[in-house]
Amino acid sequence: MGYIIERNIVVPGRPALDNGLAVGPFGQTHLHSTANENATMDGEVSYLSRNWPNGYYTHLVGGGGRIIQVAETNGGAFDVGGDWNWETYAAIEFSENIKNQADFNKSYRAYIWLARKLADECGANYDLDDNDLVGIKTHNFASRTGHGSDHTDPIAFLAKWGISYQQLKNDLINGFDEAPVPAAKFKVGDQIVLTKEAYATRWGTKFNNAVKTSWGTVRKVDRAAQSKSQYSYGIDFSGRIWNVLEQDLIKRPSQPAKKVGGFKVGQVVTLKSSASHWQTGQPIKNFAKNKQYKIKSVKAVNQSNSNQAVLLEGVISWALAQDVK
Ligand SMILES: [Zn+2]
Repeated sequence: MGYIIERNIVVPGRPALDNGLAVGPFGQTHLHSTANENATMDGEVSYLSRNWPNGYYTHLVGGGGRIIQVAETNGGAFDVGGDWNWETYAAIEFSENIKNQADFNKSYRAYIWLARKLADECGANYDLDDNDLVGIKTHNFASRTGHGSDHTDPIAFLAKWGISYQQLKNDLINGFDEAPVPAAKFKVGDQIVLTKEAYATRWGTKFNNAVKTSWGTVRKVDRAAQSKSQYSYGIDFSGRIWNVLEQDLIKRPSQPAKKVGGFKVGQVVTLKSSASHWQTGQPIKNFAKNKQYKIKSVKAVNQSNSNQAVLLEGVISWALAQDVK
């Protein structure tokens, strides 16, 4: 499983740089954990949107391997509480809101993947906490060397889930083999129906009968690592948007085109200018088009888009129902 970085920038600009505190170049990628086991990923982002002046980071990882970028990189941050705030290229927070070991394992791989990617971007190698100014640094190391606060994250949090400091170092150097993220199955404008098993929206709202038995149009595609899905969709069912996980959707079966017919003997119709051939195959001469005719007879056909042909008085020719109006 590879990763998509969701962008939800809630920190305006690059505060550390914009305020003249941090000066480039920025060569450090910092590793943190949130120290909050109760806040969800979205809760963390929402909190940050209101409290970034008191501290901010650039990326949040968790929720089974979800990655959200919350601030721009390459401009310092308020993340370690010391002068290395002004060296921050990127600062990654690992959400401690972990459900179980499998959840942790997935998120941990995303954390390692992201740390290596950001190290690549800022010109750092993968040696954790070495003595180069440029590099990947834990908050713990920043604090221990006088460049941070008194925080020691993410060491204890990782250890709690079975990752020693040495293991973290090894994993940063070796990385994991990550396959690319699968592409979204549907795109905006696609018509879909719910699967038989579909039960509730991404947010847990149960589908009503009207939605279960009708079809909808995709209005929005979102990245969402949830349950068995990598994407969720904003689906328009009769004007109301429902957020549905990819696993609950299938393409709407193609609809047979509605056949044209239903004319009555005696009815007066106009032969359309778009008509090209009589039902019997001969080309229609131009002079016959755009004129009115009384229908002399009708017959059932299954031809082109028509289920009926009409015999036009005057020209005594059979026209397909689609060619008259
Ligand atoms: Zn920290």
